[in-house]
Amino acid sequence: MTNKALINKDRALAQLLQEHFGYEDLYAYVRTFGCQGNVADSEIIKGILEEIGFNLTHDIKKADMILLNTCAIRENAQNRAFGNIGAIKKYKETNPKVITALCGCMPEQEYVIKKIKKSYTFLDLIFGTGVLKSLPTLLKRSLKGEKMVIETGNDALGLNEGLPVKRDSDFKAFLPILYGCDNFCSYCVVPNVRGRERSRPFNNILKEAENLVEAGYKEITLLGQNVNSYGLKDGFKENFAALLLALDQIQGDFWIRFMTSHPKDCSFELLEAMAQAPKVAKHLHLPFQSGNDRILQTMNRGYTRADYTRLLKYAKTLMPDLSVTGDVIVGFPGESEEEFEDTLSIVNEVEFTSLYTFIFSPREGTPAAEMLDETSEEAKSQRFNKLISLQEQIAALRSEKMVGNVYKVLCEGESPNKPGFFVGRTEGNIIIEFPGSADKIGSFLTARVIKAKTWRLEGQLI
Ligand code: SF4
Repeated sequence: MTNKALINKDRALAQLLQEHFGYEDLYAYVRTFGCQGNVADSEIIKGILEEIGFNLTHDIKKADMILLNTCAIRENAQNRAFGNIGAIKKYKETNPKVITALCGCMPEQEYVIKKIKKSYTFLDLIFGTGVLKSLPTLLKRSLKGEKMVIETGNDALGLNEGLPVKRDSDFKAFLPILYGCDNFCSYCVVPNVRGRERSRPFNNILKEAENLVEAGYKEITLLGQNVNSYGLKDGFKENFAALLLALDQIQGDFWIRFMTSHPKDCSFELLEAMAQAPKVAKHLHLPFQSGNDRILQTMNRGYTRADYTRLLKYAKTLMPDLSVTGDVIVGFPGESEEEFEDTLSIVNEVEFTSLYTFIFSPREGTPAAEMLDETSEEAKSQRFNKLISLQEQIAALRSEKMVGNVYKVLCEGESPNKPGFFVGRTEGNIIIEFPGSADKIGSFLTARVIKAKTWRLEGQLI
């Protein structure tokens, strides 16, 4: 029996909800912070809540259940989340029957649980990233009168197979292929909050992708902290390259994307598979974090600058139009000005399509948080601004070169910048805006770029 059937048959839970609220028309509000992994988790949570009998709402004032799915990756993301947790107190005060829940990466940290127990006593449910399928049981415990039900801990981490999913989009889907991470980069809290790496069964992923394509999805993004190590630890006979090639065989017009890749496990075989598979978008998000070998070693990244550039050199010989994006951390503890210059030089060398840039944020429980950090915040900000302005120049040149070219784009929705314009994303993950119509949202279109700005390209449909 699948978990879905279990939830459906849970008449006891339905009765407890009816007794608690006194009515049946229940609404749940789910807010997600953080990465695509959290978005995918929230889609499962929403699926479970719908199975239980909740309607989903974007209006928090209407909600009988308020759930915040939180992120722990950076200090300010976490502080923002604490602010939002504080803000839901007023809804509980106005209507004590409202069920308030907190989940995601934040509650997987012991010091956060301590803080919540002390300062956020109005929360009813707290659960971690590996126990999504227990949500109906936890809800039941709360409705039976248990105060602040808490369920976290890596022992319980699972794979979420067979759980219902309520997707946010009907043409773009996230498809998790593995959970957790074994890499322990010295600055990162993810292995602590999402547990050890575990891969989903190959055939389950394939089946889910087939169903998505059959349902009309045009873009499937495979998710994992390190998709490149798919199946390795679990001893699967198929690795990530084999998974891409198998997905590429599914009939239909759609793109396969994936994130995040780790340079340490990004093999030539994988790049060859990308090049061979027409449905795999020619976009590689390959975080490099620093251009300096000493910093990379202190970060425990497991590769050198030369390893990284060697991979990209090979990738570009196979896929000359490959679009490469990356993540980079500025101001890692002990980073000197010269070491930062190495980061600027790799950015110059690779010519990334875009970069996700971060100033180092110490995370409790990680080795980097204990490292001596003598660089002033001002110096870090200056480095950060220097990096942004370099990337802007690179992006501006790239945009100029795109003028006059024709691209296949997936129309994603209305432009937030210009009324009457729509947003399309190229295979390389570059946004083009063009005049269009709402009925084309979710379709592949062809657009010619007619004007270039640093972060915005204007085009027309052809
Ligand atoms: S690979 Fe490193 S940065 Fe990425 S989730 Fe794992 S530990 Fe964190």
